[in-house]
Amino acid sequence: MTPFGAAGTGSVQVPGSKSHTNRALLCAALAEGTSRLSGVLFADDTKAMLGAIKSLGVEVEENPSELTLEITGLGGRPRLNESVIDCRSSGTTSRFLLPVLATGHGPATLDGSQQLRSRPFAEQIAALRSLGCSLEETAAQGGLPIKIQADGLAGGEVEITADTSSQFVSGLLMAAPLCDEGLTLKLLGTPVSRPYIDMTIEVMRDFGIEVTNLDESTYVVPPSGYRATALEIEPDATAASYFFGAAVITQGKVRVDGLDERSIQGDIQFVSVLEDLGAKVTWGDRFIEVEGDHIGGGSFDLRHFSDTAQTLAAVAAFADSEVEITGIGFIRAKETNRLTAMTTELSKCGVEIIEKPDGLLVRPNKWLLRGATINTYDDHRMAMSMSLLGLRVPRMEVLDPDCVNKTFPEFFDRLEELRPRAQERSGVTSVIAIDGPAGSGKSTVAQRLAAELHLPHFDTGAMYRAVAVAAVRAGVDIEDADAVTKLARETNIEIHERILIDGVDATEDIRSADANQMVSVVAANTQVRQVLVPRQREWATSLGGGVMEGRDIGTEVFPDALLKVFLTADLSIRAERRFNESSEQTLESVLEDLKRRDQIDSTRQDSPLLVAPGAIIFDSSGLSIEDVVSDLATIFRGLVAG
Ligand code: C5P
Repeated sequence: MTPFGAAGTGSVQVPGSKSHTNRALLCAALAEGTSRLSGVLFADDTKAMLGAIKSLGVEVEENPSELTLEITGLGGRPRLNESVIDCRSSGTTSRFLLPVLATGHGPATLDGSQQLRSRPFAEQIAALRSLGCSLEETAAQGGLPIKIQADGLAGGEVEITADTSSQFVSGLLMAAPLCDEGLTLKLLGTPVSRPYIDMTIEVMRDFGIEVTNLDESTYVVPPSGYRATALEIEPDATAASYFFGAAVITQGKVRVDGLDERSIQGDIQFVSVLEDLGAKVTWGDRFIEVEGDHIGGGSFDLRHFSDTAQTLAAVAAFADSEVEITGIGFIRAKETNRLTAMTTELSKCGVEIIEKPDGLLVRPNKWLLRGATINTYDDHRMAMSMSLLGLRVPRMEVLDPDCVNKTFPEFFDRLEELRPRAQERSGVTSVIAIDGPAGSGKSTVAQRLAAELHLPHFDTGAMYRAVAVAAVRAGVDIEDADAVTKLARETNIEIHERILIDGVDATEDIRSADANQMVSVVAANTQVRQVLVPRQREWATSLGGGVMEGRDIGTEVFPDALLKVFLTADLSIRAERRFNESSEQTLESVLEDLKRRDQIDSTRQDSPLLVAPGAIIFDSSGLSIEDVVSDLATIFRGLVAG
């Protein structure tokens, strides 16, 4: 992945909701008459459902370019014909279909991919057996493949545990009207993903079926028949979460059309979580727009919209404080063990993350983020969420990206559409801002990058150093803020090949250990900054921009820089680099010195060293200067390309 380097902005069309599509497909397949669905998702999971209903004799006319489907339903219970129904890796297809098959007549086998075979079905099998259905697991107990000998269901009352998957409940609900006596469904335990149950009821209602909620955990469905209808599928709210996440992570602005607060999808609640974290949200009429600001911290219970937990964990990597995600122990039984997978992969990227029994705890530190090769475990949501880190962290490699085909084949194309382009941005200054702690490689990278791109190079640190040296030369106490400020104002500092202070060469002096000691004190002097920052702006503006390095270029001097970079490296590596540059100090004292300067620079009142909003975070630890420069040149060229 190539990072954005600035705020991602734009409007995104996300595909139709997988959950909405698969419910509508099944209801239409059982209905009397021809239903017309628009805004349909065409992806692996919905193709699984389509294949399944076709194998039951349902007539389907597909128009993928128009995103529409015409489905002529069975007008009642399915007739099974010994076929093996392949649900691929689709949990919804398999869990929705199994109870519906049970209401029919004849033999069939329900099967799927290895991945689906390892997911749980036991609760649903138990519920169907209690209703008198004959089922046989032909491989492992409680899983696919399942052989069914259907002979209709009398119905009555059934209990089901709903703390592993709400799909078990949704499947039984959709089968309920086809039972001779209808069905009374009692939920045991604390149900997860309750909004998905509500969505099932809503779609059933669209197809003419009434479900009554006797109390919190009892649903009553009388015997009845589905009626064909015309239905518009909502854009997928989970898919939208990645783009809202992108807005927040790059501190940009992204709008998703077709969704608003009336959505029947529970995952829309993810937007409120982002709002709580500090994002600005516009809840429009058939659109939602998210604008990234700072990312705070907090604790969030995602029991009812757990598919967005991975998106939140990825966002949390960029937060200012701890983010805790609770209520989601059950997502260990999704496409993969999502808690372990997310913990493993985010850790590789330098994120401190702890897997808890019922969730995740992320303790972010942006300084430590680094690119890594990401395993996706055949889980579309691993690929989509982890790729968000690649918007700001170079050298992210996402393996098996095609696993997004499960629900969102065009995901990476849509994400690319948010990439900022220089000519489309107003108020941009042609500056590449490179900030970072001492020893991160800033100076060398900035110089070489400037040479590579034929741009001027500005070293703002040299200005602060020159003031420190001027103070020594004039015998001014470095702690005397007013005197140092007066000096900064009156001294003529020239920064070219050589550094001149009032015409006297200071090129070597400004790099001395003494200067190193004093410069942080000079730089923490607010009045000195008030003198030097405007000079830095003038300096760059007069030359039409360039590569500018320092501590506050992206945050204070040029917050609207074309490209912002925060260069970092492990403390020990930075110390070694500084040690090799000069033998005046021992390695230990260099390390102590760096720690002290990091501390002063990042905690000072005025213009502390912070990762600028949207800046690329580039850990140069294991990399050569050439690697870093070449990556940044590529990103820059991408930004200015037409
Ligand atoms: O980059 P360099 O190490 O030469 O910078 C010297 C010092 O100047 C830094 O440690 C920091 O305290 C200060 N500085 C700053 N703002 C800048 C550049 C440098 O505060 N833009």
